[in-house]
Amino acid sequence: MSRLLDQHLLLSLLRVCVWLVLLSIIFVPLERLFALHRQKIFRKAILTDVAYYFLNSLIPAFLLGAPVALLAWLVHHAIPTALTSAVAAWPGWFRVAAALVVGDFGAYWGHRWSHEIPFLWRFHAIHHSAEHVDFLVSTRAHPVDMVFTRLCALVPVYVLGLAAPVPGGASLIPVWVLILAFVWGFFIHANVRWRFGPLEWLIATPAFHLWHHTNEGPGHVNNNFAALLPWVDRLFGTLYLPKDKQPARYGISEPLPTRLLGQLLWPLPIPHGRTASQAAAGNSAAVRTLSPDRPLT
Ligand SMILES: [Zn+2]
Ligand SMILES: [Zn+2]
Repeated sequence: MSRLLDQHLLLSLLRVCVWLVLLSIIFVPLERLFALHRQKIFRKAILTDVAYYFLNSLIPAFLLGAPVALLAWLVHHAIPTALTSAVAAWPGWFRVAAALVVGDFGAYWGHRWSHEIPFLWRFHAIHHSAEHVDFLVSTRAHPVDMVFTRLCALVPVYVLGLAAPVPGGASLIPVWVLILAFVWGFFIHANVRWRFGPLEWLIATPAFHLWHHTNEGPGHVNNNFAALLPWVDRLFGTLYLPKDKQPARYGISEPLPTRLLGQLLWPLPIPHGRTASQAAAGNSAAVRTLSPDRPLT
């Protein structure tokens, strides 16, 4: 049993390493040739982001397994059979397209709540703490933040019967939605200056998401929450995508630990009246203060 587990872990590790090499072969040259901001490949916090890459590539199965199984069971007993059979009769391509749209609505609201609800923001702030953004920043996320936003994307897909949430008999649609969002995530964080004209309103691009990471004052924060479809932001009045401008700087205004472990512990409540950041960082030198003009909403 434990040998099987070891083999599985080893194979997963190998797969994740191969993915990292492939992603680097694609994005590192592109980010050199078409850089939006001149920055080193081995920029500040690169090792922390590599650690997040391994962490978030290897543990989703463990972290998502239990909540998804519970969700599947609950939803399976709650949705009317008439709805699931009607949706099951749709052509496969239409169900995939509908799942992408519905999933992105869920992702939008999960992401927006992560900015608007202070408890959720504590977890999501880690993703926004990057002051140099490149493809690898896509994986900089607290596991709680990652699980929460993925569940927000999956719940409506299940509720509307776009996927059968039955273990063993589940459709592959939610898996494809997650894989597409995962791969697209690297692209929209890439440090490239490309613009795509009217296409930018249809599908998320680096310009769209890099504006989400900007730290250029209250007028520019809390926009562009969608994972794949910018018109969802347009629908809810949060789209910010100027034609002739690109963001100049990234980050947040809150003090955050710089190391991986400190960041993972930072959002958690710590007893004895100490703040989480003090407890996680151990000393004030390991806590940095970012630029002061981002409101915590
Ligand atoms: Zn965000
Ligand atoms: Zn991001």
